[in-house]
Amino acid sequence: MVIVIFEKAPAKINLSLDVLHKRDDGYHEVEMVLTTIDLSDRLKFEKANHNGIAMVSQSRYVPNDNRNLAYQAAELFKKRFNIETGVNIHIEKHIPIAAGLAGGSSDAAATLRGLNRLFDIHAPLNVLQEIGEEIGSDVPFCIQGGTALGKGRGEILKPLPSPPPCWVILAKPAIGVSTQSVYSQLNLDDIALAHPNTSKVIEALEKQDLNELIDHLGNVLEPVTITMHKEVARIKEIMTRAGAKGAMMSGSGPTVFALVKQESKAERIYNSLKGYCKDVYKVRILR
Ligand code: ATP
Repeated sequence: MVIVIFEKAPAKINLSLDVLHKRDDGYHEVEMVLTTIDLSDRLKFEKANHNGIAMVSQSRYVPNDNRNLAYQAAELFKKRFNIETGVNIHIEKHIPIAAGLAGGSSDAAATLRGLNRLFDIHAPLNVLQEIGEEIGSDVPFCIQGGTALGKGRGEILKPLPSPPPCWVILAKPAIGVSTQSVYSQLNLDDIALAHPNTSKVIEALEKQDLNELIDHLGNVLEPVTITMHKEVARIKEIMTRAGAKGAMMSGSGPTVFALVKQESKAERIYNSLKGYCKDVYKVRILR
């Protein structure tokens, strides 16, 4: 009997993203609040009769070799647990690529969870997170999901209550943004007066107060990406004109999101964006 394992790989958005300073090791020390949303890639895993990793995806835009973060996850997992059997991985992409939604990191996280089940390893989440950290700073969060405060490079995590039920409208202009290029253009002196108030975001989550949460959404990378891609500012403007109380870029962008309580308003915002860009989504927070 062929055992087939399926895993969902949900996207994340940043409710806040702050950069505190640049560390001696070259990484930026961040403080951010992340939450998972119901926009997911779907991955399928099965043991193979070869001993390598064979990857297939319906998307022309993701590599099927070790440039793919899910492939790297499979390599590290096999090495860590001395697995000689090969694996076939199928990735069905739904999360837009290079969008600030951690699609690649979430596929890597889903691969670690999926192979843990496929090979009956039963490694606890924190061990999977240790492996994930080697792939990228967002991977440990994607392994646990939900909502969390992320510090360090983003890998030191503290679970938080998820936002109160609401709609998430997302729009991605037809450009990809490289996270590295945004960080390289970030001037830490410029953000000295514009740090998001992360404690207020946490307080709003604890109080389950959506309006307060929306009031304190913040992302220090947003002005940097906007300097390069004016479309991000335009999407924010369309969202607020259509009734969103606040709209914020996720990660290094270029995806912008708005949180909305009422479905009729969410629908209005969604429709107003549809004429401007192709990648528009109306989804729920994953609680
Ligand atoms: P982050 O917010 O973590 O920087 P992102 O959403 O901006 O992530 P990804 O969609 O993860 O960006 O893609 C960034 C780059 O990673 C792309 O150039 C892509 O070629 C590469 N990549 C590697 N593996 C994957 C994958 N499984 N899915 C999508 N992109 C991948």
